Amino acid sequence: MAINYKICPNCNSKDVAKILYGYPSGDMIMLEAAGKIKLGGCLICMDYSPQYHCNNCDNQWDKEEAIYYAYQKITGLKITIGGFHQGHKNLSVNLKTGQMTYSHSIDEEKNLTIVLNPGVLEDFKDKLIDTNILNWKRRYYDNEVLDGIQWEIVMVRDKRNIIRSGSNDYPLEWDNFCKIISEISGKNFN
Ligand SMILES: [Zn+2]
Repeated sequence: MAINYKICPNCNSKDVAKILYGYPSGDMIMLEAAGKIKLGGCLICMDYSPQYHCNNCDNQWDKEEAIYYAYQKITGLKITIGGFHQGHKNLSVNLKTGQMTYSHSIDEEKNLTIVLNPGVLEDFKDKLIDTNILNWKRRYYDNEVLDGIQWEIVMVRDKRNIIRSGSNDYPLEWDNFCKIISEISGKNFN
């Protein structure tokens, strides 16, 4: 699921119009009257030119803000990586409280629960946006390999959780993702 830019970050309404800049035609004026688009004016003279307009609450925002709010809705991450032979590493991070739990299915001595300090947590959330995880495919699967490494990431949200998973296949940003979860946990994920 790619990020849906046309949901109001303020009121969650889907009654959202794209803002168009430039000299409007007659058709565009009709579309604006119907709430389909919003006319932004002839000149883009401001530093900030929002791209979306909420017909419900008049909030306006751009793509960057839409991405930021989409990630803000993730309240936690639950990550499992491993295989039959090496066991599974599990990492769970509460993105609101900073509580982080690590466990290993075979080597239980390495289990750990800590609370990340707020600065580390905020830095992690910024880096999570850079991994582009919300735009990863639902599933990565290499059917040439029967055993090997399986992974699953659950992004916990108030309404519906989002899941990404794979078997011996990975998104482009995988190394970057492993790097940031290794950093916060002090455990080696890759
Ligand atoms: Zn709104």
